[in-house]
Amino acid sequence: MKKVLIIHAHPEPKSFCSGLKGTSEQYFTDRGDIVKVSDLYAIGFDPVGDQRDFTSISKPDYFKYQLEQMNACKTDGFTDELKAEMDKLVWCDILIFNFPLWWFGLPAILKGWVDRVFAMGLVYGDGRGVYENGIFKEKTAFVTMTTGGPEIAYTPTSNGDPNVILFPIHHGMFYFAGMTVLPPFISWGPARMSEEQRKAELERYKSYLQSIDTLKPIYTNR
Ligand code: FAD
Repeated sequence: MKKVLIIHAHPEPKSFCSGLKGTSEQYFTDRGDIVKVSDLYAIGFDPVGDQRDFTSISKPDYFKYQLEQMNACKTDGFTDELKAEMDKLVWCDILIFNFPLWWFGLPAILKGWVDRVFAMGLVYGDGRGVYENGIFKEKTAFVTMTTGGPEIAYTPTSNGDPNVILFPIHHGMFYFAGMTVLPPFISWGPARMSEEQRKAELERYKSYLQSIDTLKPIYTNR
């Protein structure tokens, strides 16, 4: 039995991207896993990392975000909203970022979740290693993403290689924290698909989910 955390970042609950979130939630639940979802728009998650993250500031004269994060880790000084997300991150075995590609990256609400939840003193720093010495080496992470553009537009001479676009997430977030990183599931241009194609796409996602124990990781420390 695995503990699965889905971080979902789409403003429309009836979107295809939200449908993918529902598919994985159902798949893991049916498998007997425990699933938690952080639906960032639904909970009104504030993506702005600043002084408001903390119940008190140790050095108010000059605000250093990472220093205050480290201090808050030691003093239980994060706000309840943030603590709840951090507890889920520490708890999970499998972490999924479920989002639409926005400007070749994460929607701001999800980028802000990483800024605030992947805190120094919790995920890295203060004696914790990174990459091959990262503390979350028992966790597995992957991206589930929708795009506007079709797959053929994602070549080195056009929009770029998707692995390059996802490098900041795969390498700079997941593997930075030591996690095993699986190849992403990308749904290319669901708005361009017919209803039948979209149904088939959800089946393709279920097949992907069935294969995650055997997929060759992009990065792993295990
Ligand atoms: P939707 O339009 O919500 O869904 C498509 C269709 O699927 C809808 O008709 C919906 O009714 C239907 N549907 C929903 N659920 C189901 C279901 N369960 N079964 C069957 N059908 C269903 N794209 C790029 O490629 N690169 C970029 O850099 C990029 N930057 C962007 C920046 C911004 C700010 C924005 C707003 C968009 C950007 N896009 C970009 C486009 C964006 O990535 C796509 O619009 C998005 O990923 C499409 O997924 P969706 O879930 O929103 O599709």
